[in-house]
Amino acid sequence: MRSEATQPERLEDEQAFDASLRPTSFDEFVGQKKVVENLKVFIQAAAERKEALDHLLLFGPPGLGKTTLAHIVAHQLEVQIKVSSGPVLERPGDLAGLLTKLGPRDVLFIDEIHRLNNVVEEYLYSAMEDYTIDILIDKGPNARSVQLSLEPFTLIGATTRAGLLTSPMRDRFGVVSRMDYYSAEELFKIVKRSAKILDVGIEEDGAMEIARRSRGTPRVSNRLLRRIRDFAQVKADNVITKPVARESLEQLEVDEFGLDEMDKRILEVLVSKFDGGPVGLNSLSVAVGEESDTIEEVYEPFLIKEGFIQRTPRGRKATSLTYEHFNHSPNNNSSTQESMFS
Ligand code: ADP
Repeated sequence: MRSEATQPERLEDEQAFDASLRPTSFDEFVGQKKVVENLKVFIQAAAERKEALDHLLLFGPPGLGKTTLAHIVAHQLEVQIKVSSGPVLERPGDLAGLLTKLGPRDVLFIDEIHRLNNVVEEYLYSAMEDYTIDILIDKGPNARSVQLSLEPFTLIGATTRAGLLTSPMRDRFGVVSRMDYYSAEELFKIVKRSAKILDVGIEEDGAMEIARRSRGTPRVSNRLLRRIRDFAQVKADNVITKPVARESLEQLEVDEFGLDEMDKRILEVLVSKFDGGPVGLNSLSVAVGEESDTIEEVYEPFLIKEGFIQRTPRGRKATSLTYEHFNHSPNNNSSTQESMFS
């Protein structure tokens, strides 16, 4: 099954939109203070030694700025960046093609690095460790393997699922940084910056309303802003005020907590179909009609962080906040909130 956001034409459009709002320097990059501070030190040290920066692994939920940071790092190092992703690199030859094109100290960014297949992953090991790869030349009886030296380079791997990386892969990264959800104040700055780039007027409390309801995720802020801009243009003289933001968010079915349609469906199903759980990920996935990977990578981390879902050894469970939010009471789906607290 494919959700709307993963259809190819939508994806391309979204990627172009993301790129247009992408900060290009650390100064423009909001939040993730610890990650940024560390990176600045490592970049300066590597530059002073005229060495390639250590391989860097960025992990965290989608839309938090991993790709953006990779580009900023390359920019800061004053080197080129080549971009690929785990599922695209099907054969060692695909990877060799990229690696051999890298100049001294260049960056190779591999998104979804946990999805590299074993063969390609193992091929990457010697490249990361000694900057060498073996390539097969000639065919048939004359076929032989030749070792090729690469320029020193930096691999930046991004993943939403650090737990799925093999330990040999993980061990080969000198720096491992975890990206966290953003605060409403940080997202507020991002919304204001994006509104300026998109040339739409926005009032402070309008920007805060969007920031508060963005699931802690800059990509979501930008996506909401893009939609709300349309409402503002058609109905409100091109200015996003708080009422415009609120009304538009209601139309877009984003609730007070920033939960979107799928978040709400997951919680509703958990409460009404599975009596609040515990329920296994696969059953939940079938019941809501979304891939289990997507639930685990995209929806669940935020729902857990906000206290709507608890992960137990026996499966996912609703919390009292979930019942409160949906006006349900545990073990009695039809009862009201009052009865729960009476
Ligand atoms: P990821 O690679 O983690 O999925 P991206 O780097 O593609 O996320 O970020 C998604 C969008 O969010 C980018 O287009 C960028 O405009 C915005 N963004 C992400 N992080 C930040 C940030 N710290 N400051 C400003 N904008 C950001």
